[in-house]
Amino acid sequence: MASAFTHSFVGLAAGKLVFPEKMPARFWVLSAVCALLPDIDVIGYFLGIRYGDTLGHRGFAHSLVFASFISVLVTIAAFPAIQRFSKHWWLLIVSFFATTASHGILDAMTDGGYGIAFFSPFSNTRYFLPWRPIEVAPIGVRGFFSRWGWDVLVSELIWIWVPLMLLLVIVTILRRQQTR
Ligand SMILES: [Zn+2]
Repeated sequence: MASAFTHSFVGLAAGKLVFPEKMPARFWVLSAVCALLPDIDVIGYFLGIRYGDTLGHRGFAHSLVFASFISVLVTIAAFPAIQRFSKHWWLLIVSFFATTASHGILDAMTDGGYGIAFFSPFSNTRYFLPWRPIEVAPIGVRGFFSRWGWDVLVSELIWIWVPLMLLLVIVTILRRQQTR
């Protein structure tokens, strides 16, 4: 994984890009949760599932099928009042899909561990992006407050936070100009 902060931040940014208007608090909470959710597969460690298996870490829970499934589920469960198949409903699905899928994409930019099984359950092939500037984050709190944890934060700050904030600012300015 990248660090939990960065996964959540990317999830919130994806939500903001899809929905510039004011959204209910549960939308933002769920966006952050969806961005972290794929790492639920670390439970597999304790169940004896191997890293490289379909249900192993960075396997099915990091796939695009999982992200699609979660996006529909979260939208239906948390926004029952939104009319199904309306534009707003689809946008919610797009947003939660982007948020959940962003996790695997971010992981695929890290320099350690196995690749991401984006096409699971159809294929368990693990992929990395051709460009992997992010240092893989240590698992657990102790590792995080180490030199390693610091290097991770710096690499995420440079490669994720700064570019994404710039993008948000630019998109916000462009949208304001459009509505004028
Ligand atoms: Zn992950």
